Amino acid sequence: MSYLVKNYNRKKISFKKGKGSFLYSNNNQKYLDFVQGIAVNSLGHAHPKLIKSLSKQSKKLWHVSNAFIIPEGELLAKKIVKKTFADFVMFQNSGAEATEAAIKVARRYFYSIGKPNKNRILCIRNSFHGRTIAAIYASGSKKMIEGFGPKVNGFDHFDFGNHQSLEKNITKNTAAIMVEPIMGEGGIKIIPDWCLKELRKLCNKKGILLILDEVQCGIGRTGNFFAFEKSEIKPDIVPIAKGIGGGFPIGAVLMNKKVAKSMTAGSHGSTFGGNPLAMQIGNTVFDIISKKSFLKNVKKNSIYFLKHLNNIQKKYPKIIKEVRGRGFLIGLQVHKDQSNFIKRLYENKLLTIRAAENVVRILPPLNVKKSELDLAIKIINKVCSSY
Ligand SMILES: *Cc1c(COP(=O)(O)O)cnc(C)c1O
Repeated sequence: MSYLVKNYNRKKISFKKGKGSFLYSNNNQKYLDFVQGIAVNSLGHAHPKLIKSLSKQSKKLWHVSNAFIIPEGELLAKKIVKKTFADFVMFQNSGAEATEAAIKVARRYFYSIGKPNKNRILCIRNSFHGRTIAAIYASGSKKMIEGFGPKVNGFDHFDFGNHQSLEKNITKNTAAIMVEPIMGEGGIKIIPDWCLKELRKLCNKKGILLILDEVQCGIGRTGNFFAFEKSEIKPDIVPIAKGIGGGFPIGAVLMNKKVAKSMTAGSHGSTFGGNPLAMQIGNTVFDIISKKSFLKNVKKNSIYFLKHLNNIQKKYPKIIKEVRGRGFLIGLQVHKDQSNFIKRLYENKLLTIRAAENVVRILPPLNVKKSELDLAIKIINKVCSSY
């Protein structure tokens, strides 16, 4: 009997430990973990530097209020600003909190310049921005809002890839466009670089803000620190979370100074956001992932992996329809319901997770070894040949 609410359909397995790319179950099986807590454990399980960082900080200081200066957070914010488009950072605890705070920043900016009616956020239909009450309405998914009315107003939607529907939905009340550069839950769908460029131009032309949700695709996942970097544009606001904590819950909103000015004292807050323990770990993760050589390796290894996955697709086009993604944010779109494919991979000791549109999502740790990629390739080949 489990006393947990049944809002998850949990797989009947639990784990006693993890090391790098592997998980060890309580019934003594070893799994190659290409879920990694859904793109969260960017450095795999039990990374020695993260263990050291956490243990050291745990003996010093865990939590003080944001009413005081937190040097570990000051340092991480400074590193993020030096490395990215951002001028300022606001720490949160999770992805949904970060996307909601991003929405608040966009609205507050227009409020602060005397345009409070510019407050609507335009998002892609069936995208994913988290599970809080506003975030589910931002996502524009019928399934996610079922039973959670009344409707949270202030969101409009356009269809992925439909530029007419995008332009048509921009009104005088639009404050911002918010999209994921690569839709994660939505089925690993990439917004092409030229589209991101056009989005930026469109936002400039209409005088609205561009929010890029990098909660899943950011923090080195694609081989660039941010997925949008390849398009060479600058967004106004970027919520991040998942990968930045390496397994410790951290969220943040990155923003330029134009919008940051509106977030005056008392306008937003978080009890836990940016506490010393989280920030110490965040610094350690950031130091490792932001290195040029680390990101170069992510690119190199992911290109190798994707090449092999594409070969498998060519060999079994009746099973795998398409290989999607960039870096280590990968989807295998299968022809039928993906759950059977995921189950077969699992029986062969490879853990993957679903995404929309019959996609099997594959999320190795960013520091995955080539031999581990080879093992995954072998298992995927075997599963395909078993159909
Ligand atoms: C996971 C995710 C979120 C929500 O993050 P939580 O930490 O689960 O609240 C928001 N946006 C995107 C793109 C995500 O992938």
